[in-house]
Amino acid sequence: MDNYTSDSSDGESCNRIIDLAYLLRNPESVDKTLSEYFENDSKKFQDIERIILHHNELNIVPHNLCRFINMKVLDLSNNGLTSFPDIFRYCQLTNLILKNNRLRNETLSKDFTECYTLRELNLGGNDIVQFPEQIFSFPNLKFLYLGGNAIKNISKDVWKLKQLQVFSLGGNQITEVPVTVGLLKNLQALVLCDNEIEILPANIANLHNLRSLLLHKNRLRTLPPEIIALKNLSELSLRDNPLVVRFVSDITHQAASLLELSARALKMYNINVQPGDIPQTLLHYLESAHTCLNPHCEGVYFDNRVEHIKFVDFCGKYRIPLLQYLCSPKCASTSTEEIVRPHRSYLMKKVLLG
Ligand SMILES: [Zn+2]
Repeated sequence: MDNYTSDSSDGESCNRIIDLAYLLRNPESVDKTLSEYFENDSKKFQDIERIILHHNELNIVPHNLCRFINMKVLDLSNNGLTSFPDIFRYCQLTNLILKNNRLRNETLSKDFTECYTLRELNLGGNDIVQFPEQIFSFPNLKFLYLGGNAIKNISKDVWKLKQLQVFSLGGNQITEVPVTVGLLKNLQALVLCDNEIEILPANIANLHNLRSLLLHKNRLRTLPPEIIALKNLSELSLRDNPLVVRFVSDITHQAASLLELSARALKMYNINVQPGDIPQTLLHYLESAHTCLNPHCEGVYFDNRVEHIKFVDFCGKYRIPLLQYLCSPKCASTSTEEIVRPHRSYLMKKVLLG
């Protein structure tokens, strides 16, 4: 993930930084040092843009931090923080690093003041169990790290984070990925490894900028075939999933309804139906036809489809099971294996299966 870290470490002149990392100091001691900036004229508190306090013994946020109104970067990682107040009332941060603390949903400020400058938020390695909805107060987030918690859900409102480039959720207890994740058009890295996900929404294929999709250690049995359309994807990890390795033949198939059979016939024989010929509801039904995905079949289906697992030989090296729908069980037996060759501009660097 080195390629996808934020740009928070670019150079800055020393007089703008307060660096108190690795000192194992308590909140009172840090507050005392910070207060010197207000008492001593030679240290201008207004100039301070970065405050680095990782690896101390801060169970609460030192009060004097809120007085640095021009602070942009705040790193409080690896402390014992049990709560985090609405610091955004006082300053416009760009980067907030809170990883490896003891923050819980109830101890994060219930509301954060809207902050349009925040680009990076790292809440990884805490004790959060629900997706923290407070983060929608930061509509311009580009980097969001929530890995290593015990989060069970992804908020359906996640589409609001339109600028998101890196969305990291590895090592949680997520079972479902909402379709709204497919609306994050700027996403370059989606980290969902080490969760309990059984199925991915097909519209993941709308994430045209996605370069890295980490899915290892989940409960995926198949992948949506649309995933093949991700032309910029260069890293896909799938190991430790119960991916289907053989075609499952005992898929039950129910007989199609008379409505479905007659609609299929109309489509297959290209019979022209005009408005007025049949009721409006049937016209809508006819429009809902799906083309059978077997390349050797010209059929369509409506509600009655056959789930089929197609194995795609990825880059001539790996067989990936893709879930697709066909018009009939007969089609499943004639659908042949396909070799997907990478697009010219599409160089799959890593497909990790085992
Ligand atoms: Zn078919």
